Amino acid sequence: KDLLAKRVKTLTPSTTLAITAKAKELKDQGIDVIGLGAGEPDFNTPQNILDAALESMNKGFTKYTPAGGLPALKQAIIDKLSRDNQLQYKQNEIIVGIGAKHVLYTLFQVILDEGDEVIIPIPYWVSYPEQVKLAGGVPVYVESDAAQNFKITAAQLREAITEKTKAVIINSPSNPSGMVYTREELTELAAVAVEHDILIVSDEIYEKLLYNGVEHFSIAQLSDEVKARTIVVNGVAKSHSMTGWRIGYAAGDAEIIKPMTDLASHSTSNPTTTSQYATIEAYNGPQNSVEEMRQAFESRLEVIYPKLSAIPGFKVLKPQGAFYLLPDVSEAAAKTGYNSVDDFVTALLTEANVAVIPGSGFGVPSTIRLSYATSLELLEEAVKRMDNFVRSKW
Ligand code: PLP
Repeated sequence: KDLLAKRVKTLTPSTTLAITAKAKELKDQGIDVIGLGAGEPDFNTPQNILDAALESMNKGFTKYTPAGGLPALKQAIIDKLSRDNQLQYKQNEIIVGIGAKHVLYTLFQVILDEGDEVIIPIPYWVSYPEQVKLAGGVPVYVESDAAQNFKITAAQLREAITEKTKAVIINSPSNPSGMVYTREELTELAAVAVEHDILIVSDEIYEKLLYNGVEHFSIAQLSDEVKARTIVVNGVAKSHSMTGWRIGYAAGDAEIIKPMTDLASHSTSNPTTTSQYATIEAYNGPQNSVEEMRQAFESRLEVIYPKLSAIPGFKVLKPQGAFYLLPDVSEAAAKTGYNSVDDFVTALLTEANVAVIPGSGFGVPSTIRLSYATSLELLEEAVKRMDNFVRSKW
């Protein structure tokens, strides 16, 4: 008898896991591996946030909360969306969940029936296709390559829409490309979504990590009509270096937020109470640490980008946001004798002792993703190792 459900048969573990496990194995053998796989800021959570969490615990705020989050936290999020994004929401249009990841999971459970399609631009964050499939949905991929700055066009979106399309996912700034859609591009995409009556899932988790003067613009800001069909997803993991606290949220039409909250009431009960109090401080307290962390990422990018671009056979677009670089290394892999970028990645790890993520997991198999959420010293050493590796085998 097969004791497993069909829905997990095609579930693939996060691609980052295999390489991270191998990197750990080497580290355990005493080999000095530099890991550039991280998807989280390398800073500690700001002190004022830690203090607020401790204070809430000392006051005895350690019990269940409403399933969709504390009213005070929802208010802090409403104020944030108004202050930063000029978006106005009411309490019943917000749900707080266990990280943006689980909020997205809940959202797909609520909007998808068996066979419903969700348009996912390539390159994509690894969890979107799996979450859509777990909800019975079908991921429909739309290609964008480096020549179009890893951004899909309105014409491509229109072409991908069928009778079964429920939603399109827009992730700007993007993981893994670091690219940011302009207001004009979003306007064109939104017009197609309105025309074909589909939802827009706008994952804005990297909103605060933007470089060289690029500004964030939420697609929901375009008009009331667009806002009504957009679910804005965001959180404090990347902006406030709070990955482990697991707080994310969605803002959107109450008709979608309500069933999401009902589902949460049966699946999670509530996001961790202490983390909710921490997040109230994250949004209501001083924001200088957010900017300080952004500046640190930007200065690393400025140092590392030219060095990475100078590695033979590496073609790198300069990212505008997030903390990833997505070089096309197909030429470097071929010239150094590897059949695929995946094999090249394995060799980088075992021979150059640098762990990066193969782009195949993001739908772009000619690339590797490396994160600059680590110290400049380690970054420079990692790039030097990759450079030596490629030159020695060229
Ligand atoms: N969306 C994207 C594009 C991400 O890269 C991540 C984290 O890696 C998330 C959502 C999830 O964030 P959280 O830690 O809030 O679940």
